Amino acid sequence: MDTKSPAVYGVLGFPVKHSLSPLMQNAAFKALGINATYKLFEVAAGDLEEFFYSLEKNNIRGLNITIPYKERALQFVKLPAESNHLFKVKAINTAVFAGGVWYGFNTDITGFARHLKENIDPVAKRAAIIGAGGAARAVSYVLANEKVRDIAICDVDASKARLIAGMVSDIFPGFPIYPVSDVEALDIAQKDILINATPCGMKPADPCLVPESKFHKNLFVYDLIYTPVETKLLARAKARGCKTANGLKMLLYQGAGSFEHWTGEKPPEDIMWKALKEGVGQA
Ligand code: NAP
Repeated sequence: MDTKSPAVYGVLGFPVKHSLSPLMQNAAFKALGINATYKLFEVAAGDLEEFFYSLEKNNIRGLNITIPYKERALQFVKLPAESNHLFKVKAINTAVFAGGVWYGFNTDITGFARHLKENIDPVAKRAAIIGAGGAARAVSYVLANEKVRDIAICDVDASKARLIAGMVSDIFPGFPIYPVSDVEALDIAQKDILINATPCGMKPADPCLVPESKFHKNLFVYDLIYTPVETKLLARAKARGCKTANGLKMLLYQGAGSFEHWTGEKPPEDIMWKALKEGVGQA
């Protein structure tokens, strides 16, 4: 491996151009004087295998993995023995090259847990999740692990919601998780926490996922999306008196976790946060 050129890190996804991770991670490398660069790797599904097999040749030492590869990436990494739960969560967002081996981690889990608990005490709350892809695996794991009372989950593909329910039941036997057919069946009127784990809301033409009448002032609405900083979902929820949060702090916390896995250094979170705020035009 080339040790003189900057070590290469980056985010793998498709599409990935919207990602703010390069701003945040390059600011962190610079602040700590680490000879490394962080890039965007937009890779089509058919090229994924070749991408993974050429990582070492291209001096790539670490990856973030985003939509839609959090689950597929698992086949290219080893899971550390101490990450027992990841064998069942079956989604990763971080890969690290160490001792000739690629290891997988999921800092979406730690990042989401940290930001969730900054906003609400999840214990005994009733939760609903829209979307059952890679990020929802981390979100539902965290909610069950933090002892919410129950979870309802839906996806346009109902089989994916059932798979996540199966995953949670496997890790937390007896935990009440209900895969439902659509947003209506989530019964939002009875919930304390609503989470959008779909990309719906990123594009200006995207609809609001929830009818306005379903929001109530005791509902905490969390949108994993961070561009735009306020999706239609968050704007309408806020207008109806809900507490809301977007995914920018989760992005910070998961990125800080990945940085620590790659470098072994304490991540400079204040600098990373400043870069993110600049990235969304809120500096
Ligand atoms: P993903 O694996 O593609 O999963 C999204 C799931 O939502 C898919 O199953 C998708 O179905 C479904 N879906 C799409 N539109 C829907 C709708 N209107 N109603 C119900 N289900 C719908 O994506 P992901 O990796 O989980 O990411 C989801 C979102 O979270 C993305 O916007 C991503 O940027 C964001 N995210 C943010 C952070 C953060 O740090 N803030 C971290 C992770 C992810 P189809 O595949 O059939 O469309």
